[in-house]
This record gives sequence, structure tokens and C-alpha cells, in this order.
Amino acid sequence: MRAYNFSAGPSTLPLEVLEEAQRDLLDFAGTGMSVTEISHRNKAFEAIVDEGEALLRELLNIPDDYAVLFVQGGASTQFAAVPLNLMHNGKADYIVTGNFAKKAFQEGKIYGDAACVASSEDKTYTYIPELSEIRFREGADYVHICSNNTIFGTRYIAFPDVKAPLVADMSSEILSREIDVSKFGVIYAGAQKNLAPAGVTIVIAKRSLIQEPLAICPTMLKWKVQDENKSLYNTPPCFSIYIATLVLRRLKKLGGVKEMNAVNEYKAGLLYDFIDNSPFYTNNVVKKYRSIMNVPFVTPSAELDAKFVKEATQSGLVSLKGHRLVGGMRASIYNAMPVEGVKALIEFMKKFEKENA
Ligand SMILES: *Cc1c(COP(=O)(O)O)cnc(C)c1O
Repeated sequence: MRAYNFSAGPSTLPLEVLEEAQRDLLDFAGTGMSVTEISHRNKAFEAIVDEGEALLRELLNIPDDYAVLFVQGGASTQFAAVPLNLMHNGKADYIVTGNFAKKAFQEGKIYGDAACVASSEDKTYTYIPELSEIRFREGADYVHICSNNTIFGTRYIAFPDVKAPLVADMSSEILSREIDVSKFGVIYAGAQKNLAPAGVTIVIAKRSLIQEPLAICPTMLKWKVQDENKSLYNTPPCFSIYIATLVLRRLKKLGGVKEMNAVNEYKAGLLYDFIDNSPFYTNNVVKKYRSIMNVPFVTPSAELDAKFVKEATQSGLVSLKGHRLVGGMRASIYNAMPVEGVKALIEFMKKFEKENA
């Protein structure tokens, strides 16, 4: 039996996609080879890359003057690629709303004058700073944000309106809600939360911004080079790109991002409503900033939290242990988590509360 997998990443993939990949595994597109064995210059594979890019453009409504790239190294490598491609004046502003946002900020400091212009660290990242109160600096090359904070379970409900290009790490929410791409200079996302297995990272970048990387930028991190080579500058993560394309096909069939957003709001609503109406479970995030992807919660004690995780696992509800920085539990309910999975979790929570309250 398949478990309901609430892992924050790598995370659950749609069953239909895994089954299709399984059918294709020995003979991909009539080549007599698996997709992991063919050349990345093979026409059948190039068709997969082209289709994946076209689907991303369509589903996210990406303007034509933006490059769409499939690169390697995870979102963490983009923490460096962002300053290396954009920091021409040596100056950038960061909003620090969680662990990954902080890592991006620290990486930015290696390459220039990166400043933290706002942070929610004072309250263990349980909110998003009030955007209208932030003093952005004149002459910054970009403003960096993390739109959904995977570990702490917060998300932006509006984005800063800034003069400098806005750069967003959307790893844990890409394709989960509608986004106006034209408001951003660059969006990047590791695929292993909402899109594919680990290995591929999506970069969506306005072409006018990526013409001149810094001289010290490694070739592999130059977005311009990746764009000119249609993401095939070197051997790409073929299998991850292939699965991403299958996931995107499915998303389109299901009605696209708008429909997915509605389902995600519904799933998250069920879980938050249950938590808010229970005297036993607590979520500490300021309500309006609650993520619809990552839902952290606790019972009245650390002992009960551990018991919860253990018994949930025995019931086929797995990977619910919270991040080591916050403890407790975290249910990651990405696009691929079915409504039934969230309902099964709530049923388990009810039972556990009854037995332990
Ligand atoms: C998971 C995650 C990362 C790290 O991604 P890697 O692909 O492991 O480098 C960065 N940012 C956010 C928001 C994440 O959720």
C-alpha cells in the first residue's frame, strides 16, 4: 500500500505520473531505451525539454521576454547564481523570513554588500514583515525574497512593490497558486517539492536582466549561457526533467494553476480549521500569513509530539516530523497530496487527540 507522504521534500509525486514513468522505464517513446539511458541530444529527449518549457510558460503565463531554464545544483546553488548574475553595483536587499531566506542572504554577502532590510527572526519567523514599512536601499541590484517558507509555514500574501528587480525563491510553492510573473525579475525553484524528483531547478528570468553576469561567474551558473543553449549546455538531469514534464501535463489536464490553487486552499482550510477548533493542537503562525503548502503544528508536549509521529507512521501517514529547527509536526501538502490524504490525517489527529488529551 502507498503511504500518504507529508515530506517537505523530496516529496510525494502523483501516482499516475509514477505509473506512467514505470511503463516508460524500459522503452521510452519507442527508442528501446529508458529515458535515463538516452543521449540528451536525442530528438525524443529534446522533445521532452521543449514540451516541459512550453507547459511551464503556458501554466504560469510567462511572458516571452523571460527565459525558462532547467538547471542543476538545487535552489541552494541559485543562492549564489542570483548575485553572480545580477550584482553589478555590488548591492542587494534581502528580506529574511526563514532558514532558506537567511541562507540566500548569507550567500549574497559573499559577493557584495547584501543587506537584510527586514526580518521576522525576532518571533521565530511566524509572520511576514509589514512590506510598507521596509526601507529598501537606493541603487540595489535586486530585492530577494522567499515567497513560501517551508520550515516555518508562512507565505507572502502580497509582494513588495520595489524599483529594483524582485527575485523570489519559490521552491516550496511554485505552481501551487497564481503568480503574476511580470512583477518579478527572477523566480527560481528546486523541483523536489511541487514538481519532480530532486535534481532539476527551474529558473525563470527576465532576459534583459541576464545579459551580463559578473566576470567571476562560473559558466554553468550563467543564466545567459543556459538560455542560449536551451538548458542543454551540458548533460542535464534527464530523468527529473522528464518527470517534471509528466507532472506539468497532468497539471494542465486538471485545469491548470487556478484549479490547483482552489484545491490547495481547500486542503489547507480543512487542516487549519481542524487545528483551530481543537484545544489539543496549535499552529503558531500569524493567520493571514499561513502557508497552504507547509502546515506546522504541535500537541501540548514534546513527548506527545514524538508519540504522534510514531503512531501516525504506523497508520501509513509518514514524514510528519517537524524540521529540527522548530520541532513538533509539519504536514507538507503540496500539489500532489490528494484531498483524501489530508482527510486521513485529520481523522488520525482526531483519534490521537481522543486517546491522549
Ligand atoms: C527546499 C528549499 C530550498 C533548498 O533546495 P535545494 O534544492 O535542496 O537546494 C531552498 N529554498 C526553499 C524555499 C526550499 O523549500
